[in-house]
Amino acid sequence: MVRRAEAFRAKQGIDLRTGHRVEVIDRKRRVVQGATREGQGFTQPYDRLLIATGAAAVNPALPGADLPGVHRLKTLEDGRRIKALLSGGGVRRVIVLGMGYVAMEMVESLRALDIEVDMLKPGPAFMPWLAPELASVVHAELGANGIGVHTGLRPQRIEAAGGGLAVVCPDATLSGQMVLAAVGVAPRSGLAQEAGLALSVANSIAVDPTLRTSDPDIFGAGDCADAYHVVTGRKTWIPLALRANRTGWAVADNVCGETVALHGVAGTAVFRVFGLEVARTGLNIAEAGEAGFEPVEATITSSTKAHSFPGASALWVSAVGDRKKGRLLGMQIVGREGAAHRINGAAVALHAGLTVAQFFQADLAYAPPFGPAWDPMLTCAGQLLKKM
Ligand SMILES: Cc1cc2nc3c(=O)[nH]c(=O)nc-3n(C[C@H](O)[C@H](O)[C@H](O)COP(=O)(O)OP(=O)(O)OC[C@H]3O[C@@H](n4cnc5c(N)ncnc54)[C@H](O)[C@@H]3O)c2cc1C
Repeated sequence: MVRRAEAFRAKQGIDLRTGHRVEVIDRKRRVVQGATREGQGFTQPYDRLLIATGAAAVNPALPGADLPGVHRLKTLEDGRRIKALLSGGGVRRVIVLGMGYVAMEMVESLRALDIEVDMLKPGPAFMPWLAPELASVVHAELGANGIGVHTGLRPQRIEAAGGGLAVVCPDATLSGQMVLAAVGVAPRSGLAQEAGLALSVANSIAVDPTLRTSDPDIFGAGDCADAYHVVTGRKTWIPLALRANRTGWAVADNVCGETVALHGVAGTAVFRVFGLEVARTGLNIAEAGEAGFEPVEATITSSTKAHSFPGASALWVSAVGDRKKGRLLGMQIVGREGAAHRINGAAVALHAGLTVAQFFQADLAYAPPFGPAWDPMLTCAGQLLKKM
């Protein structure tokens, strides 16, 4: 999409080979082996090796998950296939399995095409990682846009029914012409595992801050590899695009003799669903408890602009701090505007290891079109301080 394979070959002099699947890493002989799309075997020696095989969309473990009409959205090809089917006009209702960010972005796109949508998940809580008040704002936005949101529905099977598909659950059956499975991704770490490299959280490839695997001549980068969490200092697996880009860049430097050690990730993420921006960084209260902190949470409602300024709407902010050491552990923001880029201020605070009291002292920008004099993040930090 961004750059054609030929540009890598012609402009950068990179021996780029599309249609070549690596099937074995032979560490003793220092070669990789595989097959081309045409079925021809190949062997490629290496001095240093980078594994950047990404993540794969998880297939729901359900009878009927392989029926035609059940799709996942991971690759461009997946996207093209889904788009072609939707443009045919025969798809009037889609059942989306999962309520993560890919599911959220898809239901918005489907509604824009006037397609009816039902979403379902087995767990009882809608977006359990989000503070309850913020989650209920997102839930209401989906309802207002005509999405059927079904929590606590555990699909038993998918079956062909009446020219379409039915997702059968113990207490309900949902029908449509397409099922979209957006139930998460898993690291593509099989090659690394078979080569005897150490694995980590969620079976991602274990790498150190310089991106070296347990074999110092083999690097791992992007969605297939783990990372350190800047708040807990522990290993985590949060597959997102900036980390993937940054690790690729750092591996290049390290292979070429520079030493670049990465700090890690804060779990900063953002998505849009209809009119809402949903953003998070750091730990939520449950994660903070699991990591051994003594977490306290405060949630406030503020405004996207100064209260008297025309066009203001509500902005919900939730923050978590550690009662023992006073540290800011995480923040979440939901609103119609200004959530996405605000969260970056909190992310930087997490990288810097600020306490809630230090964050509360931050000199954040103010003018009426952009927020109240006390930025909503500061108001939330102030409330959190009182609770702590
Ligand atoms: C629908 C969707 C929306 C997303 N939106 C966002 C977003 O808004 N923000 C964000 O931060 N992230 C987003 N992501 C995640 C982001 O796309 C990934 O974090 C990023 O692409 C990871 O890059 P990567 O290079 O590690 O892996 P990939 O981009 O998956 O690349 C892996 C490559 O390895 C190749 N490969 C795999 N196995 C082999 C093998 N055996 N031999 C040879 N080649 C192999 C694959 O063909 C592929 O080309 C989104 C993902 C999806 C699916």
